[in-house]
Amino acid sequence: MTNPAENKGRVALVTGGGRGIGFGIAKKLAASGFDIVITGRRDKSDVADAIIALEEARADASQVIEYTAADVSSAAAREALVRFVDDRFKRIDVLVNNAGIAPRVRADLLEATEDSFDELISTNLKGPYFLTQAIAKWMVQLQEAKRERRTILNVSSVSAFVASINRGDYCISKAGIAMATKLWASRLTQYGIGVFEVQPGVIATDMTAGVKGKYDALMETDLLLDKRWGTPDDIGTAVAMLANGSLPYAPGATLVLDGGMTLPR
Ligand code: NDP
Repeated sequence: MTNPAENKGRVALVTGGGRGIGFGIAKKLAASGFDIVITGRRDKSDVADAIIALEEARADASQVIEYTAADVSSAAAREALVRFVDDRFKRIDVLVNNAGIAPRVRADLLEATEDSFDELISTNLKGPYFLTQAIAKWMVQLQEAKRERRTILNVSSVSAFVASINRGDYCISKAGIAMATKLWASRLTQYGIGVFEVQPGVIATDMTAGVKGKYDALMETDLLLDKRWGTPDDIGTAVAMLANGSLPYAPGATLVLDGGMTLPR
């Protein structure tokens, strides 16, 4: 467990941090001593409870918790987001690309629509890819001035390698992020910037609320660990470990966090 004082003044940006997995990640990073910026599509007033909860979770009352609305699929919003963090903190230490969507409608490959594909790819793949590019350029400059631990973490999914035929667009978006992780790790490791990916299994959030019945039925056979759904805290714990430098010799590593769901039987 890292001493939170070691992260004093260090800044973590978590996209989609106002609820679900992103909130679980932001909470663990706040407890690790980071100043936190969370983003999402909603107005700040809609995430007031999340901000209060993060203030309660932080290790020290001097840690800053900020929210700014930013649609990751918009180039202008990503640019404004980077400017917001720069104006407010003048530094960035951790980027967590967590914001993402599931398909509105599940459709067989033969029926899938271009609109759904575009929405999934621009939110789950293009947005994080180009936000990473903007933050990576900035991190490289910061590293050249003073080398410190800096980390980029992508929230992919077991769907990156376990395909569902009626969610092809989602699987492709997550497989893309998995490859982007390897590419960015290859490009940024030389600057001392860690790039990692976590692949959650089935985590209890708003995203999965609609399919809870289906997965509850699979729980007994598929989940080896405690027969329970994963929680945002499970993912947050792993991401905080990575952000705190607990995996020093594994550039581009993937952590599969699925309770054993995809292990061979
Ligand atoms: P939720 O639907 O609970 O939360 C999604 C978060 O992403 C919200 O904060 C939302 O913001 C934000 N978001 C969505 N679209 C955008 C956008 N265009 N711009 C900015 N923010 C956006 O989902 P989860 O917490 O379950 O999922 C988080 C990540 O984890 C996703 O990438 C998902 O694919 C991945 N994942 C989830 C799994 C699960 O079982 N839940 C399993 C594997 C991966 P707002 O609140 O403002 O709408």
